[in-house]
Amino acid sequence: SQRVVIIGAGIVGTNLADELVSRGWSNITVIEQGPLSMPGGSTSHAPGLVFQTNPSKTMTLFAKYTVEKFLALEKDGQNCFNQLGGLEIATTQERMEELKRKHGYAQSWGIEANLISAEECHKRYPGLNKDIILGALHIPTDGLALAARATQILIESTRNSGVRYLEHTVVTGIEQASGHVTGVTTNKGSVPANIVVSCAGFWGVEIGKMIGLKVPLLPLGHQYVKTTAVSSLKNREVNKNINAMNAEYPILRYQDQDLYYREHGEQIGIGYYGHRPMPVNAADLGVTPEKVDDKHMPSRLDFTPEDFAPAWKASQELLPALRETEIADGFNGIFSFTPDGGSVVGQAPNLDNFYVAEAVWVTHSAGVARAVAEVLTEGRSKIDISELEITRFEEVQLSPEYVSETSQQNFVEIYDIIHPLAPKINPRDLRVSPFNARQRELGAFFLEVGGWERPHWYEANADLVKSLPEEWKPVDRDAWSSQFYSPIAAAEAWKTRNAVAVYDMTTFHRFEVFGPAAVDLLQRLTTSDVTRAPGAITHTLLLNEHGGVLSDLFVSRLEEDVFQVGANTATDLAYLAREARHQSKLNPAQWVQVRDVTGSTCCLALMGPRARDVIRGISSDDFSNKSLPYMSVRKQGLGGIPVTLFRKSYVGEHGWEIQTTPEFGQRLWDLLWQAGQPHGLVAAGRAAFNGLRLEKGIRIAGSDFSSEYNPYEAGITYAIQRDKKADFVGKCALEAASRRTPTKRLRCLTVDDGRSIVLGKEPVFRDGKVAGYVTNAAFGYSIRKPIVFAWLPKDVNEGEAIEIEYFSRKIKATVVSDPQHDPQHRRLHD
Ligand code: FAD
Repeated sequence: SQRVVIIGAGIVGTNLADELVSRGWSNITVIEQGPLSMPGGSTSHAPGLVFQTNPSKTMTLFAKYTVEKFLALEKDGQNCFNQLGGLEIATTQERMEELKRKHGYAQSWGIEANLISAEECHKRYPGLNKDIILGALHIPTDGLALAARATQILIESTRNSGVRYLEHTVVTGIEQASGHVTGVTTNKGSVPANIVVSCAGFWGVEIGKMIGLKVPLLPLGHQYVKTTAVSSLKNREVNKNINAMNAEYPILRYQDQDLYYREHGEQIGIGYYGHRPMPVNAADLGVTPEKVDDKHMPSRLDFTPEDFAPAWKASQELLPALRETEIADGFNGIFSFTPDGGSVVGQAPNLDNFYVAEAVWVTHSAGVARAVAEVLTEGRSKIDISELEITRFEEVQLSPEYVSETSQQNFVEIYDIIHPLAPKINPRDLRVSPFNARQRELGAFFLEVGGWERPHWYEANADLVKSLPEEWKPVDRDAWSSQFYSPIAAAEAWKTRNAVAVYDMTTFHRFEVFGPAAVDLLQRLTTSDVTRAPGAITHTLLLNEHGGVLSDLFVSRLEEDVFQVGANTATDLAYLAREARHQSKLNPAQWVQVRDVTGSTCCLALMGPRARDVIRGISSDDFSNKSLPYMSVRKQGLGGIPVTLFRKSYVGEHGWEIQTTPEFGQRLWDLLWQAGQPHGLVAAGRAAFNGLRLEKGIRIAGSDFSSEYNPYEAGITYAIQRDKKADFVGKCALEAASRRTPTKRLRCLTVDDGRSIVLGKEPVFRDGKVAGYVTNAAFGYSIRKPIVFAWLPKDVNEGEAIEIEYFSRKIKATVVSDPQHDPQHRRLHD
């Protein structure tokens, strides 16, 4: 098997060694700077609470696997998980509502969960002050991971299977040749390897620096204390479980005060996130000492009691028995926070076969380790990890300033109730399109994506709402779905379907693929034939070898050897760039390069039945279907501005995406604006766009589908070409998938009452049982109903009644045909 070096023997590194061993790999060395018996990283003092439920399906499934694995990880008759159950309590009505939402996630992702009363809470945890509790979410399978013990058992078992462990050994450099990792340098010499995985926890930033890789995580101190003995916990009936596992009651979260609790025998452990962020520079912690113990380890900083004062007061109110106790021991323990709260996993974009698995909680450790092991041994993780990929970050998001500011904000907000559309407070205005000044003049309401400011609607269109025809008037929404929304979106949608609107498309990723082998690269990686003559646009897919969909691309052939690729994420760029490098290395004369042109271009989509009238007001060129048919591209001048016109549409209307370089951006806006006024042109934002694209049946990579699904399941066969002769990645698997009946499918639903909005990730019920989950939803303005995409079993039929659970309320919906708007695509070809 491959020769693997794993850096770090914390819960992630040891789990990874185990996952690789169980897949038959044995040539593995784990290098740890501390003593193996207690390495001194975050794992060495982790209290190990595992609350599995998370808005992310991937993270919840990883937590579920960690629970299952630790339950089975046994030595001397004792396993590594104490399944006490988890209680997340609410002391405010807002939190109670939030728990209902979380209950929905649990059902969507297959975790048993119950919303319980304050009375029931008290029964499960008699020490709780039930006067301040309104209710709780109870997850029976949550509990305590014995992380340090699990680490030791995994070290022992993998060692028995041949894994080599080097303790007191510090990795000081990464060795490489021709863009490929070849080993690591340590204070005790070199260790060769053809795969290196950094599982260095919060030291990950330092390891990254060794290869010029920016690892976007910030080590932060987090307070944890143990109280003196609680009298009611003393002398408990000698119970084998309490003896072995130190606990009897459920693990507890009191998020309204940023607190969590567990028992340590007679003592209570309290974790607190309400204090000021305490950033740490891992490089300043010095060398891990020869001897590490409970009180002395690099990841443990001195306790700052003044920061804990509010927590102590709130804890004594919640658990009155604590009033008779004191703080016996406290510390500020270090672990990793990231700009979006997610782990940082995957192959480094700048060095082949160098991987990271960092910013991972104990909760997700076994799941992340299994995913990385699957990537190494099979080429992909069965559970999609795109939201964890290190390559998901934009360049601007990798700066130390950005990482520090956003990671600290994530620490502060860790238990806050955050709306799914809520933007970052800071930093803002990092990336603005050249249309920004004009958008502000029109009262744009901006949300942030990838550092970009993206308009969601324009206040300037507010008056239009009053004059909307009755069947287009917006319907009232509940308080939650009204946040970050405006009824103005209805007017902007109406204009798009009935006149013309301009959308800023600058935030979409655009790459240029160029060179003599550009066509070969795209032929090899995508599902469609891209050899058509310059001027053609091809909608196509990137698959993995197993037929799972990585992304969808719009490939526009601008010149013989120059393509522009409209993509979804920075991960798409990293993938194409790596493949281009490999291909060019094999045959340097036949080179190909990929570069990001997102920031060096800008783009406006002019969409609607009167789009042609607008453009004809600017130019006398031929914009007929014959001259520039749907899915074609051409460069030309428009009012003296050099532009590229892409005849395509995300909203299902006739029109063009008009691209130029940023210096002409404002002029292009003004030109279209002026020419558009006689035809009723408005600026329109993302809120309208979302509804229109759902009506048109357009799926979005990452949220509607992922590598877990093949194109037949995802309903995106329009982007594959069944008769493509040339071989491409995933072709065999795709052919096999075409012969299988899918087990589930992404379906389109409409909400029966015409007004109840859901926002995504809600569970879907069929005959009273959970049958799937919502991916995206929006109001379908043209059909005057909320429209929803949801994963459902294959045999669900059109017309079938189903229910969606939203804040514990069941909303009736119907499976409908897809797309709902212009199924014959007449408007696109108009
Ligand atoms: P670590 O355990 O830090 O392991 C990384 C290892 O890499 C270290 O042993 C280090 O010595 C080694 N290393 C680093 N650099 C080098 C080098 N150059 N050469 C050789 N070796 C190197 N998570 C939960 O899920 N639930 C909880 O309740 C929970 N509570 C927490 C409470 C506190 C107070 C803290 C601090 C953290 C808590 N966490 C919790 C988070 C959790 O502890 C960590 O996320 C997790 O332990 C990280 O595991 P790891 O293996 O990635 O990192």
